[in-house]
Amino acid sequence: MNKFEQLGLNESLLKAILDLGFENPSEVQEKAIPLLLEKDTDMVALAQTGTGKTAAFGFPLIQKIDADNRNTQALVLSPTRELCLQITNELKNYSKYEKGINVVAVYGGASITEQARDIKRGAQIIVATPGRMQDMINRGLVNIKNIDYCILDEADEMLNMGFYEDIVSILSDTPDQKSTWLFSATMPQEVARIAKQFMSEPVEITVGAKNSGSATVSHEFYLVNARDRYEALKRLADANPDIFSVVFCRTKRDTQAVAEKLIEDGYSAAALHGDLSQAQRDGVMKSFRGRQIQMLVATDVAARGIDVDNITHVVNYQLPDEIETYNHRSGRTGRAGKLGTSIVIVTKSELRKISSIERIIKQKFEEKTIPSGIEICEIQLLHLATKIKDTEVDHEIDNYLPAINNVLEDLSKEELIKKMVSVEFNRFIAYYKKNRDISTQSGERRERSDAEPREFNNNGAVRYFVNIGSRDNFDWMSLKDYLKETLDLGRDDVFKVDVKEGFSFFNTDPEHTDKVMEVLNNVQLEGRRINVEISKNDGGGRRDHNGRSGGGRSSGGPRREGSFAPRREGSGGGFRSDRNSAPREGGFRSDRNSSAPKREGGFRSSAPREGGSDRAPRRSESFGDSPRPRRPRRD
Ligand code: AMP
Repeated sequence: MNKFEQLGLNESLLKAILDLGFENPSEVQEKAIPLLLEKDTDMVALAQTGTGKTAAFGFPLIQKIDADNRNTQALVLSPTRELCLQITNELKNYSKYEKGINVVAVYGGASITEQARDIKRGAQIIVATPGRMQDMINRGLVNIKNIDYCILDEADEMLNMGFYEDIVSILSDTPDQKSTWLFSATMPQEVARIAKQFMSEPVEITVGAKNSGSATVSHEFYLVNARDRYEALKRLADANPDIFSVVFCRTKRDTQAVAEKLIEDGYSAAALHGDLSQAQRDGVMKSFRGRQIQMLVATDVAARGIDVDNITHVVNYQLPDEIETYNHRSGRTGRAGKLGTSIVIVTKSELRKISSIERIIKQKFEEKTIPSGIEICEIQLLHLATKIKDTEVDHEIDNYLPAINNVLEDLSKEELIKKMVSVEFNRFIAYYKKNRDISTQSGERRERSDAEPREFNNNGAVRYFVNIGSRDNFDWMSLKDYLKETLDLGRDDVFKVDVKEGFSFFNTDPEHTDKVMEVLNNVQLEGRRINVEISKNDGGGRRDHNGRSGGGRSSGGPRREGSFAPRREGSGGGFRSDRNSAPREGGFRSDRNSSAPKREGGFRSSAPREGGSDRAPRRSESFGDSPRPRRPRRD
């Protein structure tokens, strides 16, 4: 007898479980299934996401449903449509050998009449988000007056999202004698209130310690200055070349902006938030599941219910407003017994939140420092070397070997290795040479002096003064783009762009100085001559200009094109926004889209942009620290 049999599950479920490949019940399944099968009881189960709780209620539910009766017998409420669809799918999988069981998903953003029609055809189980369910009840499209089972999944999250009144109203429409099974990762007061009001003598099961985080997740925080938040994110990604992560931001706007910036910097990233259409979200999720996206930048609401295994890191780009939400975020990693890391990028003023989270998750954070440029380069080099070593050779290549040998025959093995690695690596080194160390430790800025032998220094860069600035509608990003294009330089050749009102500063390496002076001093901007001079400021140590953008400090980043990140087959670069990631209509339009990162030709040749100006508009918002958002919208 296998372990699922011992729990009392019937033949058709055991067959389905075999197909699913589940070998042993998880803890929550072991505890909940026999109880729920044995008697009709209310139950409160404290369990994190990823512990197998869908099956913990799904298996007994399927077994208890009367397939011959076409009336609605069970209602499952879940916080988001993603989770709603996921649960529906799972329940369908569990019931595939049980003839006549119909499960219908009911959620916002899809046709309500079609959903009503599906229910009318005879759905014994409805899986719904509270907002849409309430809507259907109000319109008389559904009858839940005679259900036998009501499951509240992720109850804390539903209440977090402002569904308290809907839930109370929906439950009031159900019969008193039904069984209610409530699943929640945490037990805040609102959840306890619901349990008290609508449940009678519930049995309580707890998986792991109450309110505790998963034991398979380790928690780390990195203290940075607010302006370095984005740079820190990039460095963390660079220091973890195989990262497969969800990056959490607080607002849709920040989510979109961070994703766009990552894509622009060559990372395989995409945004997931509520302003995307369902089809767009599905596309993003499909790519994420297929690992074509390494960094999924998401809001809490959109990421609820993401069920993707093997996520290596959860990155809290910004901490959530509600500390409890941290638990949900970190639960995206360390699933199914795998190890995961939850990272928090934190500023000094937010440090106290770390202690509050530690109290809630009953686990300690490890304080870490953002790796230095040299450390990242070492990691990447080693990763590259390992990748070369592990790469399988397609023997098609043998046909080309004579020609290749011809070209390379004069090189020694050592030279060959150096050159091969440099093909991929030079851009990285160039970037990190130019960029300062950003690590900070518990409030004390950890400065590394230029004399420190293992850190790259900035010496040698030339700093320029130029008589155009924000008055001319430039911000650091659009000015950098403009300079790059006008001077026909590469992405990382112009750096430390610092825009003031009537003038700006920027750096290049000395080899470009002649070109900068010659070309720029002969360009006109709306009839006005541009004047560029070499600044007395040596350009090495500037670190606090009055700019607004957190990302702006980083002057771009090492584009990962042709670099180390595992990448879509056949794709030249990162995960480009125009193909797979967050489409923008209706949502947040970053100024970046309408500014001119990809302008062709010189200064006057850019395409007209919104607002009638043909110059790059200012980037209006920082995405370093945003104001506290209001509670998330309901579905
Ligand atoms: P859940 O907590 O229901 O979201 O489940 C998390 C993941 O674990 C899902 O991918 C399930 O398919 C998987 N899962 C659930 N129960 C088991 C089990 N007994 N053995 C292996 N995987 C499971």
